[in-house]
Amino acid sequence: MNLSPKDKLKFKANPAKYIEVEIKRYAAGSPLNRLPDYDNEPVIEEPLVGFANGYDPIFDEFKKDSVIGGFHLTPLEAFKFYSEKQDKPAVTSQPAALSVISVGFTLPRKTRLSNRPKSRMAAPKWRYAYGLAFMLMSETLSHVVSLLESAGHRAVAPVCTRPMSFPIIRDGLPYADWSEKHAAYAAGMGTFGLNTSLITPSGISAHLGSLITDLAIRATPRTYDNLHAYCLHFRDGSCGKCASHCPSGAVNTLSFRAKKCLDYTMNDLQKLSRELEGELKPPDHPMCALCQIRVPCEACIPAAKSA
Ligand code: SF4
Ligand code: SF4
Repeated sequence: MNLSPKDKLKFKANPAKYIEVEIKRYAAGSPLNRLPDYDNEPVIEEPLVGFANGYDPIFDEFKKDSVIGGFHLTPLEAFKFYSEKQDKPAVTSQPAALSVISVGFTLPRKTRLSNRPKSRMAAPKWRYAYGLAFMLMSETLSHVVSLLESAGHRAVAPVCTRPMSFPIIRDGLPYADWSEKHAAYAAGMGTFGLNTSLITPSGISAHLGSLITDLAIRATPRTYDNLHAYCLHFRDGSCGKCASHCPSGAVNTLSFRAKKCLDYTMNDLQKLSRELEGELKPPDHPMCALCQIRVPCEACIPAAKSA
C-alpha cells in the first residue's frame, strides 16, 4: 500500500493514534468480518490495541522458567528471526527503537450468547466466528505491516509466518517461541486468568496477535502490577468458575495442566461432538472453550465482590 501525503502527515503527527484508528477501520470494513450464515453479523467487536516498548525489561522476565522459559524470544530476537523466516531482508544491526503492537479480537454478545446455558462444547456459531476471527487477525496484521513499510519502517508479524510452527516441545506439549498472550500483557491489554487465557477489558475469549516494528511508539501504560491482577481467584480466592466448567480437570486452583486439555480436545471431545452433532464438515471442528464461556470474565474485567 502507499500512504497519501495527507496520511503521511497524520501518521507522523501521532503514529499510535493513526495505527489504532487504521486497525479498527480495516477490521470493521473487511469482508472477513461478516458471518454470512448469520445475517452478515460482524465476527468481532471493535479491536483492542496496545503498544509495548520492545526494549522493556519485562520481556527478559518472560525468559525465566517460572514464566515461560529461555526459549521465548525477546522482541529483538523475534524481529530478527521472523524477518528471516518471512524472507524479509536480514536485520543486521540493532534498531534505535523497537515497539510491539498487540491486537485483540473478541466475539460480540450475540455470538457469545449462542452458547446455550448447559452446552457441553462451543456452539456452531461461536466456532465459526472463532475461525474467521483468526483469519481476520492475520489479514489485519499484514495490512499494518504493509502500512508501516510504506512509511519507511520495518515490521514483522510472527503469526503471519507460513507454515506456522511450534518449534518447542516440552513435556509432550508444543510451545511457540513468541507468546501473543505475553506480548499483550506487556502492551497493557490484560492479565492472565486461572485457565491461563488473557482477561482483557473485552473479556477472556480473545484472539491475540502482534507485530514488531522499528518505529518508536509510546507504550500503553500497564494498569496492573502482576500477571494475574484481573482474575478473581488470584485477587480474593473467589470464583473458580473456569475450573468448575472444565470437563478434563486441566483447570484447577493449583495449576493449569495443558496436557489434560490437549488430550481432552483431541480425544474425548471428538467423540462427544459426533454424539451431539454428527460428523462436522471441515473447517468446522469441535471446540471446548467451556472455561471461557459463561464465566465472570467472559466479556469484561470482573469486579470483586467487595468492589
Ligand atoms: S472464571 Fe473466574 S477464576 Fe476463572 S479466569 Fe475468570 S475470573 Fe479467574
Ligand atoms: S478448553 Fe475445555 S478442557 Fe481445555 S481447559 Fe478449557 S474447559 Fe478445560
